[in-house]
Amino acid sequence: MRAPWSDLRCVVCLRTPTSDDPLTQLTEGHVIPRSIGGRLSARNICKRCNSDMGKSEALLAQDVSVRLLVDKLEDQLPDDVVNAVRYRQGYFTDHDVYGRLEAGMDKESELQPRESVTIKGDENTLKQALAELDRVGATEERKAEVEEEFADAKRGDWIEVRPGYRIERLIDLNDVTLKASLDDPVVPLHVLVGVAYLYLAACLRELVYADALAPVRDALQVAMGGDSNAADAYCANRHGTRIAEPVHLLRAKSVDGGAQVNVQIFRDLVWPVLFPAVELRGEQTLYVVNVERGSEFWATKVA
Ligand SMILES: [Zn+2]
Repeated sequence: MRAPWSDLRCVVCLRTPTSDDPLTQLTEGHVIPRSIGGRLSARNICKRCNSDMGKSEALLAQDVSVRLLVDKLEDQLPDDVVNAVRYRQGYFTDHDVYGRLEAGMDKESELQPRESVTIKGDENTLKQALAELDRVGATEERKAEVEEEFADAKRGDWIEVRPGYRIERLIDLNDVTLKASLDDPVVPLHVLVGVAYLYLAACLRELVYADALAPVRDALQVAMGGDSNAADAYCANRHGTRIAEPVHLLRAKSVDGGAQVNVQIFRDLVWPVLFPAVELRGEQTLYVVNVERGSEFWATKVA
C-alpha cells in the first residue's frame, strides 16, 4: 500500500530535489523493511536518506528475536522472507577432526561451510599447503608431487604435506549437524525510531515537516553517520506479547506530551517510540500487514 504524497521535500533531510544531484531525487521509502514483509511505503524520502536508512534497517532482519520468530512461523511465511532473515545467520558445530566448523546459508538456502583456520575450499587448501612447502624450503619437485596427489585424491584421503601438517580434499559435511549459533545481534533502538518516524509521516502527511519533529530528524541523520545515542533515546526497550503471528502492526496514538508509535513485529515484539510535542489531534491510527497473505489494513479512529 502506498501512502499518497505530494510534497517534494525529503521527510528526513528536508532537501528538495536538485537536478545536479541524483541522490536528492525522491524515492519509495518502505516503513517496515521489505525484507521482513513490509508493504507500506510513500514516495517521500530522498535516495541518499533511503539508502542510509536502509542499511540500518537491514539490522532488523538480523535481530536474534526476529529470527527466532521466523523459525517459529516458517510455515506461514513466504520463502523470500524466511531466506532474507536466515541469509546472514551463522551456524556451527564442533567437529572431532575439523574443530570448530562454521557455516552460513547461501542464496539457494543451502548451508555452506565458511572458510576458517582449519577448513578451506579446495583451491585455498592447496594454495596454503604449497605456501607451507615454500616456507620450509621444499623443492619444486615435492610441490608438484603434492599438487598431483591432491588432484587425484578421493573423498576421505589425507595427504601429508610435511610431518604434522596434512590436508584433505572434498571434505564431506553432509553428516555433520550444524546448529544455529544464535549470536545474531539485537537490533539497535534507532532503527525502530526510523520505522516509527516514517509511519508517523504516513499518518501526518505534510504536518510531519513541522518544527516539533526537527530534533527527531536531526537525531536520525546523526545516527546514519554512526552516533545513534540521540535517536536511541526516543525508543523504549522492546517487550514481548508472547503471541507470534505472521503479522506486523504499526499504531500511532496520542499520549500525554506527544504521540506514541508502537512498532510491532510478528505481533510479538513491540517497540514503543515517543515523539514529544507532536499532536495527532486525538486520532489513533492502526496499520496491519498480514505477511502470509500480503493483505493490508489501515484505519484511523477519530476520538
Ligand atoms: Zn533526505
